[in-house]
Amino acid sequence: MIIFKKAADCSRYLLKIKEKGDVVGFVPTMGALHSGHISLIKSGVEAHNVVVASIFVNPTQFNDKDDFEKYPVTIDKDIEMLEAAGCEALFLPSVPEIYPEGTEKTPSYDFGYLEDILEGVHRPGHFKGVGQVVGRLLDIVEPDVMYIGQKDYQQCMVLTNLIQQRESKTRIEICPIKRADDGLALSSRNARLTDAQRSVAGTIYQCLVSIKTKAENGDFSVVQKECEELLVDKGFDPDYIALANADTLELLDDYQSSQKMVALIAAKLGDVRLIDNMLLN
Ligand code: AMP
Repeated sequence: MIIFKKAADCSRYLLKIKEKGDVVGFVPTMGALHSGHISLIKSGVEAHNVVVASIFVNPTQFNDKDDFEKYPVTIDKDIEMLEAAGCEALFLPSVPEIYPEGTEKTPSYDFGYLEDILEGVHRPGHFKGVGQVVGRLLDIVEPDVMYIGQKDYQQCMVLTNLIQQRESKTRIEICPIKRADDGLALSSRNARLTDAQRSVAGTIYQCLVSIKTKAENGDFSVVQKECEELLVDKGFDPDYIALANADTLELLDDYQSSQKMVALIAAKLGDVRLIDNMLLN
């Protein structure tokens, strides 16, 4: 696997690959890789793409300084995992390489409603930061396909919107959520859970399953309350337990079987914030 630290070197290399007629698949990450990230790499490899990953812990998408500073870094292990998965190249830039003119002068995007709800409420400025860094990465990599995880459902919608705003030819491929045996969605932040916290962390998944199971003839506000009580009982501090239209993310007060629905949960366990979601129908 070739590692690039400079944007210009990475772009030049990928241009040659594209000139040969190969398809470039791109997997942007913040590192501390787990098998969820690797499943994205493998989707690209299986589709015979030349797969490029990036590892960049983007300061502009962290609204919480502490979360940024404590974000796990496991670069040597990440490189081993990427190589083993068949990743062709890794872009590993520094902050000045991504924001040579500073963050203020780097283009950012407006996602309207999508940045005013759910994660947008609890992490002000987060999606502006995500849009800014992915916009910059797309300028450098110009991939044919970008692989992203359903794990970050709202982010998938923001990035789809970003591609539309940029009138980019890049196709987005949304990959399913990889989970641990107890259902906990794999996340780099899980490494920060204590053993006691880890033993209850699967409760978020149980709540999503319960919301899905009761969609047929339940009342969402009742299920929502049950989930909130269960999470609080297990030591979580829930930010939201929400139901939304899966295509527009319009929030729903109750189940609407005529619509495609998604349930979304965000909750803190100690100082670790976990998010997860599940499509209902
Ligand atoms: P991150 O490093 O957290 O920014 O994630 C990089 C990419 O991996 C994003 O597209 C995530 O949605 C995706 N991802 C994170 N966790 C998982 C998971 N458990 N299953 C599948 N994809 C994931």
